[in-house]
Amino acid sequence: MGGIGSGKVRLRRVRETVDRHRSIDIRQWKRQGLLNTRNAFVWSWFHLDQVAASIYVQASNDRVILTHNAWLGERPESRHTYPVYLTSTDSHLGGERRWFLCPTEGCMRRVAILYAGEIFACRRCRQLAYLSQREPPSARTIRRIERIRGRLEWERGFAKGNGDKPHYMHWRTFDMLTAEHDALVKKWLGDLDAKAKAKKEFSSAGSASTYARGL
Ligand SMILES: [Zn+2]
Repeated sequence: MGGIGSGKVRLRRVRETVDRHRSIDIRQWKRQGLLNTRNAFVWSWFHLDQVAASIYVQASNDRVILTHNAWLGERPESRHTYPVYLTSTDSHLGGERRWFLCPTEGCMRRVAILYAGEIFACRRCRQLAYLSQREPPSARTIRRIERIRGRLEWERGFAKGNGDKPHYMHWRTFDMLTAEHDALVKKWLGDLDAKAKAKKEFSSAGSASTYARGL
């Protein structure tokens, strides 16, 4: 018996997961001869035989220029055009391997796969962005814990454990605040656990490229 809009929330969550796992693989592009100089193409992702998302790609010697609309969760009017520089190394099988250089500022990591986000980025940058989105609830929980500790006149930092009842405080108030405090600490520890799990889950993902095919 979900409330109004709960279906929408669920759908949104599914779409966000799909978006997050959308990726481009330079090996696939190379195999299909898409990286030839001055080639331009549209790369699409399909869901149930419908185009779910597309990007426009212009290839040149040392870069591909990607153009795509906002992914879910951004302002819908935003549109991104940016270069992703390429590099190559000698393959031990002969020939050369091409690589993307992650376009995130200050990264430039050499990778075969870039993952969708505000811009396409390497797994590490995506993971950092993904985890940082989940940082605020934990920070908020900690602030709430500290506020309660302040009212109870307990030492800052819940690792210090619970303290005594301030002499002027009613037992009822004390019990209520203590219960709320303990519940928040439990929640915080749970969030931490979920975050560690999400990290693990993410690092084993990356098969979305098998759903992709060029137009
Ligand atoms: Zn990166």
